[in-house]
Amino acid sequence: MHTCSPYPPSVLSVACASARITQAACVLLTLCLPATQSAAGGRCEEAPVDVIAASSDERHVACSAAGDALALLGRCGISLRRPLRVEIVRQVRHPLSKSTIFGLFDTRLETVFIAEEASIPALVAGTPYSDLPGRDFYRSLIVHEVVHGVMHQNVRRPPTSHAAYEYPAYALQIASLPSSVRTRFLQSIPNNADQGAGVFNDIILLIDPFFFAARAYAHFSASDGCSHLAALLQGEVAFIPALPP
Ligand SMILES: [Zn+2]
Repeated sequence: MHTCSPYPPSVLSVACASARITQAACVLLTLCLPATQSAAGGRCEEAPVDVIAASSDERHVACSAAGDALALLGRCGISLRRPLRVEIVRQVRHPLSKSTIFGLFDTRLETVFIAEEASIPALVAGTPYSDLPGRDFYRSLIVHEVVHGVMHQNVRRPPTSHAAYEYPAYALQIASLPSSVRTRFLQSIPNNADQGAGVFNDIILLIDPFFFAARAYAHFSASDGCSHLAALLQGEVAFIPALPP
């Protein structure tokens, strides 16, 4: 257990790709590698990412997904400035609610923590993610957290809202899904065609993270998404309301 606070109070320091909880917060997590299994670790061949996992299969998936995240960000000229650490652990818990979550990025440790794949079906139950192929979704949530890690390494001025923090991660998470899977997810989101302003704010993110994710992808893809990411690294973008520091 540890704490951290590199961002202003309005933007806490980790991101949680949770089915029900999107609020960022400092880290309080349970790291439980199975005691009887030996960890598989080391630098990925695909990317300057160091993965710790309980099996070589988990390590392979994490390396592959991290490579996808770096490729998506690379199209926008955004890359790692130093190696990133990814740990696949038995369970990750939200620091406030104590509920189990998909994963998070710890800014102080510069480490992505992802719940093991076997734990995901229970976490997605009752959400739009439950209809997606498990491995495809699992890879996408690793992409989500790795995007947080890479953006963190490049940020000039931390965002003041959760929405500004989550927009890149959700947009590229959905972008990383295979086309047919992405279409299935987008079609499962009611009112996804809503192009109205005011979608990208912390209230929508909290109430309906699936809608936020779908809209972030659509917005990113239909506009100059890379320019949005570049602007977010410098501070804010016009379509996401800034919050008082
Ligand atoms: Zn996130």
